[in-house]
Amino acid sequence: MADKTNPRKIERDPNWRKKEESFAEITKKYETVSPFIIAQIDVQRRGVFYTDAALDRVDPSIHQISKSAFAVYEGRGVPTSLLLRDGTSIIVSETSTQTPRDPYTVDVVDGKLMLTDEDRVVEEVFFWEKPKFFEKTTSRGTPMCEVLDARPQRFSVAMSNYCHFWTKPGHGCKYCGIGAGGVKFKGTDEERVHLGDLRETMRELVKEKGRFVGVILTGGSIISGSEPFEDELNGYIDALKALGEVFETRRFPSQVNSTAFTRRQLERLYNETGITCYTTDLEVFHEAIYEWVCPGKAASIPYGEWKRRLYAAVEIFGKGQVNTGIVSGVELAEPNGFKSEDEALRVDLEEAEDLASHGVGLKHDVWHVVPGSIFWNRTTPSLDYYVRLTKGFYDIMQKYGIPSHMDSYRKCGMHPNVNHDRI
Ligand code: SF4
Repeated sequence: MADKTNPRKIERDPNWRKKEESFAEITKKYETVSPFIIAQIDVQRRGVFYTDAALDRVDPSIHQISKSAFAVYEGRGVPTSLLLRDGTSIIVSETSTQTPRDPYTVDVVDGKLMLTDEDRVVEEVFFWEKPKFFEKTTSRGTPMCEVLDARPQRFSVAMSNYCHFWTKPGHGCKYCGIGAGGVKFKGTDEERVHLGDLRETMRELVKEKGRFVGVILTGGSIISGSEPFEDELNGYIDALKALGEVFETRRFPSQVNSTAFTRRQLERLYNETGITCYTTDLEVFHEAIYEWVCPGKAASIPYGEWKRRLYAAVEIFGKGQVNTGIVSGVELAEPNGFKSEDEALRVDLEEAEDLASHGVGLKHDVWHVVPGSIFWNRTTPSLDYYVRLTKGFYDIMQKYGIPSHMDSYRKCGMHPNVNHDRI
């Protein structure tokens, strides 16, 4: 029943544990899948809560802390995310206590920072350490941590902070909280990254020995321009040129994750910059569900055309340099998603096989229900579903000889299927 005092509060099913297999049961069931991968999936799916003892371990001079701490922590600095013993990153947001299932708890046990569930220890965890440039500001006074974001493996740039799909009511992707929150940037100086800030921050970053592995540029879609998405394309070209000034080589480890560009636009992106890899996420591997979940994307670029643009990207960037992702789990969202996990898995893997047969790499993010999104009150699939999907994607990439180095655990670490390479 809905909470009348807070209509957006996510209702938690008190019996959810009885309805699905536990982490311990799944690790036993899938012995060939690393327990670190299974932990990564389950924590991203269920979220985490930090105890006071865990938060006492946060050292702001060392650790990366969320820019805006969630109210439940009463303004205390909250770690940006977590690392496991094998170096696997677990991305957890500050809202991750608001999930349809009980979140994991990060606590201190026998002097160590531990992931726990129902008072049982699951794994040791570590907070992310921030790069040195996070303490600095650009000559314009912009904190460098706001120009380039960091993960242990790589850096990211939000080229555009506002997604045009949100301009038309009902056109934003239904799982997305970024687009809804980004409306405040519309028409402001902060709508796009400042190129001077970007250049200066990258210069500082590369001074840190051994830290730079790669940078990804992404952001909201920009429909405008001399043809659709030309302004978005120009935004990425300008940002890549600014970053490229820091490197002596023509190409440098970089990736753009953008809206799907046409062949002509992709050729411009590749020929005019030092980019090495390209991603454009289909988000859902089923045409009708894609149209329902991502109406803005579908109105601009139909499903089949998105796929054709991915195939063109493989011809331009090369096999192993292009991939596509899904927000895994939204394909089962009610009322228009698949009715069973078996059906969803079958279709996901069939479509994954079609894409891979054209040389497109595969990756999936684990859907975390975002409180501010249209899908704020939906439930994510079981852990069993995610493990079958992640193994299926990995096996398909192996079958079609698609190397995973572009988003490997050394360069990204975000996608459980790619992390199989660690074993
Ligand atoms: S394209 Fe979709 S997922 Fe990406 S920012 Fe826009 S609404 Fe969000």
